Amino acid sequence: MKKPKFGDNCPICGGELVLKVVEKLLRGGKNTAVLRVRAEVCLHCGERLYTDKTVRRFQQIRTKLERQDTASFKPLGRSFIAG
Ligand SMILES: [Zn+2]
Repeated sequence: MKKPKFGDNCPICGGELVLKVVEKLLRGGKNTAVLRVRAEVCLHCGERLYTDKTVRRFQQIRTKLERQDTASFKPLGRSFIAG
């Protein structure tokens, strides 16, 4: 599959992409973190495209979550499993 690049239309539906700040939920081990990042979001299907730099950040944060290395993160309420 061809890797989508910024400035293209949506790789899924061909819709128009707009730059937005989105909240991304990341999980690592039993921990969860919310990150606000810029992404291109498809106006038609809602697909989100992230830059390589942003994807690398996601990976770093997931690794930290897995290692319980959360000292640099701010707590945001509590997480529950309901069901
Ligand atoms: Zn789309």
